[in-house]
Parts: sequence; C-alpha cells; structure tokens
Amino acid sequence: MATKFLTKEKMGVEQVEPALTPPLESLTLPQKPKLGTSKSRKREIPEGLWTKCPSCEAMIFDKELDANLKICPKCDHHFPIGSRERIHSLVETCSFEEMDANMASVDVLGFKGVATYKSKLDAYRKKSTLKDAVVTGICKIGSHRVALGVMDFGFLGGSMGSVVGEKLTRLIERGTEGHLPVIIISTSGGARMYEGMFSLMQMAKTSAALAYHAQQRLPYISVLTHPTTAGVMASYATLGDLILAEPKAMIGFAGPRVIKDTTQAELPPGFQTAEFLLDHGLIDAIVPRKEMKDRLIEYLNYVTVGQKV
Ligand SMILES: [Zn+2]
Repeated sequence: MATKFLTKEKMGVEQVEPALTPPLESLTLPQKPKLGTSKSRKREIPEGLWTKCPSCEAMIFDKELDANLKICPKCDHHFPIGSRERIHSLVETCSFEEMDANMASVDVLGFKGVATYKSKLDAYRKKSTLKDAVVTGICKIGSHRVALGVMDFGFLGGSMGSVVGEKLTRLIERGTEGHLPVIIISTSGGARMYEGMFSLMQMAKTSAALAYHAQQRLPYISVLTHPTTAGVMASYATLGDLILAEPKAMIGFAGPRVIKDTTQAELPPGFQTAEFLLDHGLIDAIVPRKEMKDRLIEYLNYVTVGQKV
C-alpha cells in the first residue's frame, strides 16, 4: 500500500529507491491537504507581491507601496527606496543628466573571503542593474540647477568604495565649477571592506572636494536616510550646510551593540535615530519623503539668495 501511495505522490515518476517512509506516517499524509486549507492558500500568493510592514505589520500590496514612494500607507514607515525611484521623485521630468554612468569598481586587492569581491560585484550588478552604490548627475529641482548624488543601499549595502568616492568627488567638483548647489542623499553601511584602504581614502577625497565647494560659498545639503553609518557618516554625510534626515532613520558611526559593548553603558532610548539626533543638534530637520522635493526647493530658495542662478 505504501509503495502505491508514494508512486502517486511522485506524479508517476518511476520509483528508483525503495520507499523508506514508515507506513503510519504515510497513512496520515493524505489527510493533511484537506485539513490545512490555509497552507494551500499561502502557496497561491506569488512571492514578491506583498510586503509586510516591519513597523505596523500590515500586509501591503507592492504596487501600492511603489505608488506611495515606498512608504507604508498605514503607519508612514519609510521603506528603503532605490536610487532611480528617488531621483524620479525629486527632479523635474527629463532634467537628470547622469554623470559617469559606466564607472565600475575593480577588485584591486584581489579580495578573497567567503566570496570574492568580483563575484559579489557581478551578482549585485545583475540583481540591481546598477554599476555601483551611487548615481550622480546634474538636474533641475524646481527652478534650481543642482548637482545631485543619490546612494543606493541595494548595491552592497550602499558601501563606499573607490567608485562611490570618485563619482561623488567629480559631482562636487562639477558643482564647484558650475556654481551649483550640491545635494547628496546618503544611505550606507560605511566603507567597502573589499577595497580596504582605498575605500577609506574616499572619506578624505570627498571631504576635500566639499571644502573647495564651500570656499566658493556654494551650498551643500546632505540628506540622511535609513541607515547612514560609519565612513560615510564620518565624511561627506555630516558636512552639509544643512543636514536633513528622513523620519526614524538610523544614523550613527558604529552600531548600538558595538557602542554598548565598548562603553559598558546603557544607551538612552531612541539612540541613533533621526529624532534623537535632531533633539541633540546634529541634524537640522526631519523631512518625510513625500515632502522632500518641496522642502528642498524651499531650502534652495533660501540658501541661494543673492547668488547667480
Ligand atoms: Zn506600517
């Protein structure tokens, strides 16, 4: 009997191995699908159509989430958003002229770990259709021409390697030459470990470029989104004339666990959130994603008063 049942289960595929299933278990199996109707319903929902909100646990239809700039319609939780979608939400239609679109990272150190750097790069390029973790270009926001850089957490955790540093430096230099305000929207796990010292050098390089930009009395607005940490936080992300953040974004240098272990102190509630840092003066304003474009225009109007546009 048991052999008969197993043959059925395998959809008529010829049985090569002898059946090992104990007869008792095989007898209970046919009843399971009848009892567990919820199981079969689960299987009917194709993956990638719904997303569970980590804040309010609501199930949100992905198309609804996309149409709402990746913000939970129930509780306003801000999900990560890709660089292309964010650019689309901020700039005037067709005004974005991308710079250095084909600049791609090279495995200079021949990094070998659990996976090689090259295999990681290949996988993320395929997965994200991006070349690296930042998209840069000149665009119009309202009536302002702006040098805009937008990081993407979807590419190796938004880590800053040579390409991220170089693209942002070129963007800032273009801003300096063209007398343009610079806006950088950050999201990053920090320096890219696969590039060792080369990634750390980007902190100095981007900061120096911003210093020249500031010498020309040109404004730089830094926008911090969830999460912005480590080497990026310790360089260009905190050098803004104005530093804005999205609600509840995690912002800091080292993670809370590392700080707790090192200092052996209890961390205050809300530590490393945008709200905590606003209260303590590190950032200037928290701006919800849907208001970001209008608020940037407002700030640009203010910081470019008296400048030739
Ligand atoms: Zn929610």
